[in-house]
Amino acid sequence: MCISCNTPLPDGSQKICRNCWDAIPALTKDHSLYQETRGKLLAEGCIDDLISCYVFEREGPFQHIAHALKYQEYKSFGVELGKQIGGLVRDWNVEVDIIVPVPLHRIKHRERGYNQSEFIAQGIASIIGKPIIVDAVRRTRHTQTQTTLTLEERYKNMKDAFETVPGASKKLYGKTCLLVDDVITTGATTNSCAREILAAGAKSINAASAALAK
Ligand SMILES: [Zn+2]
Repeated sequence: MCISCNTPLPDGSQKICRNCWDAIPALTKDHSLYQETRGKLLAEGCIDDLISCYVFEREGPFQHIAHALKYQEYKSFGVELGKQIGGLVRDWNVEVDIIVPVPLHRIKHRERGYNQSEFIAQGIASIIGKPIIVDAVRRTRHTQTQTTLTLEERYKNMKDAFETVPGASKKLYGKTCLLVDDVITTGATTNSCAREILAAGAKSINAASAALAK
C-alpha cells in the first residue's frame, strides 16, 4: 500500500507510489521557497550554499515521507532521498570533502534506534563517494518540537544545542562539509550545528536537505 494515498501496490509493499512521488513539487534554484530559505540560511554567515530537492507541504505526500523516515522499516526512503540530493550535489558542482548528518540527541537516538539523516547521508555518499562523519558533533540538549515557535524563538531554542566532541578537529579541520538534515524550515538547527563545526576548524559548510518547509 502507498503510505501517502493508500493505493494497493502490485508487490504488496509499503512504499510511495509513482503518482505520489510525482505529485511532490521539486525545488529548482529559482523557486521562491528555495531562494527565501537559502537567504535566511546564509544570512548567519556560517553556510555557503543550500542543496534541497522537494517542497514539504502540510498534508502533502512529503509530509507522509517525512513521517515514515522516523521508522526503521522505511530506511530505504532516506537512502533514496539521499541519492537524489547526491545527484544535485554532482550536477551543481558543489564541493564536498565530508558528509555530516545533523545529529539527534542521544535520548531521541536511543528511542528511535537510528538517525534518519544518517540514511540520507548514506544515499548521498553512494553517489558522490565521500566519507560520512557521525562522531564529530553531538546534540547537547533535548530540544522540544519547534513547530509552534517563531523564527526568533527557534534561534533561541537552538542556541548552543550542539557541541563538537573532543578530537573532532582532526576530522573536521580544513574540510568542506555537507551538513545533512531531512527537512529544513527556518535553518535555525542547521545554523546552530554549522557554527560548532566551523569553530572546530572546518573550512566551509554547505547545507543539504531532502525538503524545505515553509
Ligand atoms: Zn500514493
